[in-house]
Amino acid sequence: MAKKKIKKPGKNWRKFWKLGVDEWNTQFFNVSKDGELTVTEGHHIYNLHDIASKYGTPLQVIFPFILEDRLKDLIGYFQAYMKIYGYKGKFFYHYPMKVNQNKEFILPLLSEGANLEVTSANELWLVKKLWEGEKFNSKIRVLCNGPKTESYLDLIEELRGKGMNIVPIIEGPEEIERLLKYRGDIGLRVDLNIKADTHWDKKFDRFGLSEKDILDLGKMKNLKILHYHMGSQIKTQKSIFEGVKRAFGLYAQLQKTHPNLDTLDIGGGFGIPYEKKKFYTAKGVSSKIIKILKNLSDKAGIRHPNLVVEWGQYIVAPAEITIYKVLSEKIIPKANAKSWYVVDGSFMNDLKDTWAIHQKWHVIPANNMHGVLKTTWLAGSTCDSDDKYTAGGNYILLPKLHANQEQFVAVLDTGAYQDGLSSHHCLLSSPMKIVASDGMIKIARKRETADSIGKMFGWTNGIH
Ligand SMILES: *Cc1c(COP(=O)(O)O)cnc(C)c1O
Repeated sequence: MAKKKIKKPGKNWRKFWKLGVDEWNTQFFNVSKDGELTVTEGHHIYNLHDIASKYGTPLQVIFPFILEDRLKDLIGYFQAYMKIYGYKGKFFYHYPMKVNQNKEFILPLLSEGANLEVTSANELWLVKKLWEGEKFNSKIRVLCNGPKTESYLDLIEELRGKGMNIVPIIEGPEEIERLLKYRGDIGLRVDLNIKADTHWDKKFDRFGLSEKDILDLGKMKNLKILHYHMGSQIKTQKSIFEGVKRAFGLYAQLQKTHPNLDTLDIGGGFGIPYEKKKFYTAKGVSSKIIKILKNLSDKAGIRHPNLVVEWGQYIVAPAEITIYKVLSEKIIPKANAKSWYVVDGSFMNDLKDTWAIHQKWHVIPANNMHGVLKTTWLAGSTCDSDDKYTAGGNYILLPKLHANQEQFVAVLDTGAYQDGLSSHHCLLSSPMKIVASDGMIKIARKRETADSIGKMFGWTNGIH
């Protein structure tokens, strides 16, 4: 008779680490037979342990194929449901640049059919560079949000003059006068009078005009787009649908007096299942949005609006991971976790939302994935006691450390927002950036040296 097997936490380690699951955006991730983390792009397999050993840590790995795959699917869902339901409007995806401005993100998205949304003159300046380099086709439309400084407005005018399809979105009463003189299409941002289910506290919302203010505005002959943005990482799909319904009501009213208004822009906010728990899906939500808009417009007797979606985090978060190495271990006497693992990067610097909004991450080992596990908390290597990740005071399961073996830790879904927010507390170097594409690794940005960081703080020609 066979002996009963000792039950280990993850006989199926892929399942144990929640990899290979579409709904959690881990479908490309797997565990090798040696217990190492891999990512599969078509016929190519990247071994993240080998890569981290070779290039060193902290390390950001960008996977453009994941971006392309996600955007292609998203556009596909909306277009398919428009066809299925007999929806007459068109679908446009606009990538909100602020979510990740790295070239390695923007270029693949543009080639996959993204339009753009920018929030500042400096982001728009990058778009101008792309335009001048003929990196994008002239059909791409650029929506301009954010406070309109003089230099921002001048750049918008300049690019329109050069033939770019560029649409400023009015965000506040002070912008109306100047933008009414704008010779191209314009948009209006409404601050919807509903509370979305996000981290964003509605009481302090300062973006957009109120519904009433918009209705009081009178006629704007070049009004093309009605836009709203309810906040990021919306927790429930119900909240997304409520926004669409509420905004449609205003759209329908405005449409009567503004025949050029033909587009509803529902902004960003679609969430990511960072914690690998049950979550709503893009397929389900896109279907429902089209259904809602079709029914409401038919009822109101108006044309089906063109639809703009600006889901940024949804598209880019899963396309990058961050890898650290464990430097040392420190026992915690009495807590939910047994040990601190001190890593060679910084949560405060590199993954700022850990500190700022208590972001939860899916943290897994990049090697020893079959190993004996331990409950840990992670500490960054700044001297700051807030530089830590404790999974909300709970614990992170990671392999026990071995004396002569390095332990690497991978943080998944780090592609959204963290780079723009990153900083240099204690003058630590930011992670090196590499790109994994077509089976090859390219260094996108070398690791910062002490000298290059010093320069940011004015230490140019040595110390005088
Ligand atoms: C930040 C922002 C987005 C992107 O939000 P996500 O939560 O990343 O989808 C889209 N539109 C506007 C106007 C934004 O400010």
